[in-house]
Amino acid sequence: MAVPTVKLNDGSSIPQLGFGVWQVGNDEAVSAVSEALAVGYRHIDTAAIYGNEEGVGKAIAQSGIPRKDIYLTTKLWNSDQGYDSTLKAFDTSLKKLGTDYVDLYLIHWPLPTRDLFMETWRAFIRLKEQGLVKSIGVSNFRINDLERVITESGVTPVLNQIELHPEFQQDELRIFHGKHHIATEAWSPLGQGKILDNPVLKDIAAVHGKTPAQIVLRWHIETGNIVIPKSVTPSRIRENFDIFDFKLNGTEHDQITKLDKVNGRIGPNPNTFN
Ligand code: NAD
Repeated sequence: MAVPTVKLNDGSSIPQLGFGVWQVGNDEAVSAVSEALAVGYRHIDTAAIYGNEEGVGKAIAQSGIPRKDIYLTTKLWNSDQGYDSTLKAFDTSLKKLGTDYVDLYLIHWPLPTRDLFMETWRAFIRLKEQGLVKSIGVSNFRINDLERVITESGVTPVLNQIELHPEFQQDELRIFHGKHHIATEAWSPLGQGKILDNPVLKDIAAVHGKTPAQIVLRWHIETGNIVIPKSVTPSRIRENFDIFDFKLNGTEHDQITKLDKVNGRIGPNPNTFN
């Protein structure tokens, strides 16, 4: 079954399921992304800081799949925030990826104490105007950060990529996204694999003949989130793609939604991450 797409506020569309490559080395990225493309993924999520843009680019080039059929995201790292430094860092990413445009460029973290993200965003707007980036967005931005971007630049990010999984659902932020036509993209959608032993997930998985990972990914898809699960294991890469032949019923969906925790965050907090 085809992967659904999500329409973004600039008119473009993103495949709702993608493939993440955080903590995947450059060489390993070649094999993992090649496997993902062979399975059918057409959306890859990397970042300058992951150190694997060359490997991702190589896998895309080797695949023989037309560039236009692959949705490619990369991210600007913190130390490159600022107007000129953003343009330079983007150029480096583009060269490493071996392509002449990216589909989506994200500011990786807001770094509120450095206060450079507005300058950075202006460089993003220029990259979009030049056609080097099809869509521009942010990651780990809080409501206040998003409000500033929208009011000071007049350009709303197409999406915000945030930590999001059943144990950390960020309701307030997602409601804000909804009001402003900002799509929600979930990083660590499987809670880095740490939440999959939950008996609620196991029971629902058994009913559908699926795995807890597939149940969590299905829950995201039905919630409307864009997901970018990561794996370097071919069987899991396939498993995480095989989520479009079943549906959760309302009760199951609600049971998963109830797994939300006040302290469910696994990764860094954008308030303090510098
Ligand atoms: P994830 O939630 O995708 O979990 C990945 C881990 O879960 C794997 O390493 C493996 O241990 C396990 N796993 C994967 N598939 C499984 C399966 N089918 N069954 C059992 N276990 C399985 O975590 P992630 O890698 O942190 O997040 C996904 C992607 O999100 C990253 O690769 C990256 O692209 C992006 N990301 C972005 C940010 C950001 O700040 N913007 C931060 C973290 C991650």
